[in-house]
Amino acid sequence: MKKLFPTSTAGSLPKPLWLAEPETLWSPWKLEGQALVDGKRDALRISLQEQLTSGIDIVSDGEQTRQHFVTTFIEHLSGVDFENKKTVRIRDRYDASVPGVIGPVSRQKSVFVEDAKFLRTQTDQPIKWALPGPMTMVDTLYDDYYQDRKTLAFEFAKALNEEARELQAAGVNIIQFDEPAFNVFLDEVNDWGIEALERATEGLTCETAVHICYGYGIKANTDWKKTLGAEWRHYETTFPAIQKSSINIVSLECHNGRVPMEVLSLLKGKKIMVGAIDVASDTIETPEEVAATLREALKYADADKIYPSTNCGMAPLSREIARQKLQALAAGAEIIRKELAD
Ligand SMILES: [Zn+2]
Repeated sequence: MKKLFPTSTAGSLPKPLWLAEPETLWSPWKLEGQALVDGKRDALRISLQEQLTSGIDIVSDGEQTRQHFVTTFIEHLSGVDFENKKTVRIRDRYDASVPGVIGPVSRQKSVFVEDAKFLRTQTDQPIKWALPGPMTMVDTLYDDYYQDRKTLAFEFAKALNEEARELQAAGVNIIQFDEPAFNVFLDEVNDWGIEALERATEGLTCETAVHICYGYGIKANTDWKKTLGAEWRHYETTFPAIQKSSINIVSLECHNGRVPMEVLSLLKGKKIMVGAIDVASDTIETPEEVAATLREALKYADADKIYPSTNCGMAPLSREIARQKLQALAAGAEIIRKELAD
């Protein structure tokens, strides 16, 4: 984008209460059949409108058409058994009942392509679309078939690549892969995680992004964060290899956490989506607080590489709080634009 400090979100936004239980992560749908299809479209329209009126430059579907950022994609693959779920430990942090891989995985049909085409008809702004990353997918189910995390990750990467190419053809400008697992399995990230991610982006000419955060503001995550010590240095381990990769944009958590901002200097040449909004708190950031985070980022990254964003998705927040946080993000970015123009 030509505009300096174009604003965006990391991904999800709250759903309307007629579509899913509010302020609840991964809430089941309240509608069925055609009413659900229509309801998701209407929610997408509203979510887009709220982003635009709040001053968000790079818009998304707000993830209104999916229940879960990983399993909704996995539901469209063959070789996965959703009937016999098992409880596994997710990211070494919390137990969840998840589907299992019982045969070769492959993408049977497109997952989000029709939604992306619809979003494209609704706006001329740049569109970012989020997909799960291969490592995070591996970590969100059990595997009775390949029994090897790397092998399974590359199979998922193939399926993701097929989807990504169709999203690009549908007019998506940035395809983002969500890899919260990159902040947990640090050795694996460097061994095969980034390679699997690059496999997922093979042949794409649109921009590519990876979102690496410390998770949604749910209790399991906030409890985990308390154990991480005074400084969170996970990014330091993985950014050198990400910097060398073909991924264009890195989305990370920077506000209210304990990430030392100097890690940004490890991403030289990359665009950086700087998380300047805390998604684990109902307190609305002031524009000045957002500006302060961006000013700090400017010490370690060039102005034309900084994209103000949220730490993570805002699905669990109330709609009113999410809206005010988006407005604060846009206002904070505007403060910095004016400062640099003076
Ligand atoms: Zn996140």
